[in-house]
Amino acid sequence: MSALVEVKGLVIRTVDLSENDKLLTLFTEEYGKITAVANGSRALKSRYLAAAQLFCYSSYVLYQRGERYWVREVSLIESFFDLRAELSRMSLAAYICDVADGVVEENAPEKDFLRLVLNSLYAIANGKFAQAQIKAVFEMRAAAVLGFCPMLDGCHTCGKTDGELYLDVMNGVLSCPECRSLASMQPITEEESRTASIICRLTPGALAAMQYAVSCPIERLFSFRLHADDELLFYQSAEKYLLNQLERGFKSLDFYKEITS
Ligand SMILES: [Zn+2]
Repeated sequence: MSALVEVKGLVIRTVDLSENDKLLTLFTEEYGKITAVANGSRALKSRYLAAAQLFCYSSYVLYQRGERYWVREVSLIESFFDLRAELSRMSLAAYICDVADGVVEENAPEKDFLRLVLNSLYAIANGKFAQAQIKAVFEMRAAAVLGFCPMLDGCHTCGKTDGELYLDVMNGVLSCPECRSLASMQPITEEESRTASIICRLTPGALAAMQYAVSCPIERLFSFRLHADDELLFYQSAEKYLLNQLERGFKSLDFYKEITS
């Protein structure tokens, strides 16, 4: 990166450094994650004020001084203003940004993942789709975009595609009830018994939602309806799957669940 760079970035984290300085973590299309100091961003008349807030997507000119990047110019592209209208919207958006903060690295562009994050924030702000559905779709699509998409085209042992199937969260494969009960009669290793507990039951509808979320055109990502019986299974499985693949939890997710339960 040269001394002066232009990037488009989403503010996924902010830390107050002093009265006047704020450290922004930006998720950029060009360079993955970048941290930059916004000088004077907390001052009331600051020209950075609007753009230096969490969830703002802006065009930046950054310059490098020593080890750090500093914001020289910023022009707001999208503030996702309506995210701030409800606490549940804000906390779901915070969870999505925390996932991005956790997985995106510096100097590693994640163009498709940035697009997914922006589309998800837009959908939450827009309020047209259920938050739980946006969350689950984001979780499955994130897994796919980040390279750990589960194999969802049928039982991995016998190939069965109809009826209820089980998602083996740790291994990212499906099993049918018959193959599962056969496998359960085999002696299993200690490692298998430790990981075997994370098995999610999927109705055909819940599985169809998963398949849709990982493969549909991104512009139609959230526009589908689920039968009530399938919703909860889809929501639970998506969350379990992503968190297990990332091998971590998120405080923002705990908070979102607390206020929406
Ligand atoms: Zn099978």
